[in-house]
Amino acid sequence: MNAFNDRATFDLTFKIPDKFVLVGVGKLVKEGKEGDFAVSHWVSDIPLAVAGFNYGLFKKKEIADPQTKYQIEGYATSELPSYMRGAASIGGMSPARLTESAMVDAQNSIRIFNHWFGEAPYGRIAITQQPQLNFGQSWPTLVYLPIIAFFDSTQRWQMFGMQRGLTDFVQEVTPHEVAHQWWGHIVGWTSYHDQWISEGFSDFSASLFLQYAQGGKIDRYQKFWESQRQAILEKNVFGIRHNDAGPIWMGLRLNSARTPAHIVASPTTRDLTFCTCCDG
Ligand SMILES: [Zn+2]
Repeated sequence: MNAFNDRATFDLTFKIPDKFVLVGVGKLVKEGKEGDFAVSHWVSDIPLAVAGFNYGLFKKKEIADPQTKYQIEGYATSELPSYMRGAASIGGMSPARLTESAMVDAQNSIRIFNHWFGEAPYGRIAITQQPQLNFGQSWPTLVYLPIIAFFDSTQRWQMFGMQRGLTDFVQEVTPHEVAHQWWGHIVGWTSYHDQWISEGFSDFSASLFLQYAQGGKIDRYQKFWESQRQAILEKNVFGIRHNDAGPIWMGLRLNSARTPAHIVASPTTRDLTFCTCCDG
């Protein structure tokens, strides 16, 4: 039930068709080709609770932040997923061309969280695209972002209109997932009863980002928490308020078809950070 207090170093080698790009946890120590295959070797010197990877027809970008000494990488596809290509208003849109804004959000998140919580030890973070619309996930040194996090507000409006909650989700998902480098990966939990604390601190971290990345405007912070309060009190599609699902201390035991666990833990970010990888 709890893999997050059992850490290990990892030494991972991947061999994939060479048209694809793989991004792993830890540091890339070697890459090359074997025939039609690309081979990459990833090593984590710092013990990690989990290891994961992402894989796709990615274009890679990277920046080195002189302030935090962090390397920030972005991985996104050149083309939209097929299910999005029919949207005429976004013809020609490429996630890879929009990677920089997600990378800048990650860079600012690391600066703000380093200042508030102490420096993260990993030295690197990869911001990577995953095709589903509505969730993010965080591994040590590696973040999955929903494809809409790569679009700007105009493009999202063209695609999805003014869906309540979607804009908030997109603004919060990058800092929330980057915050899990601290809350979840640097600081774990003793048992699943305390897992919600990682979500709570990551939400708090996202609210700090919203405040400071907007030039210290406290109203962004307050708006975030007002939105969170509403999310806790309003009924979901089954008529159940998140607040009434049960004690949050019960964690994943509250999970049901009518009260999904990730909604109980973090109603607005719909975050699956820890549910998918350790509980089967
Ligand atoms: Zn989360």
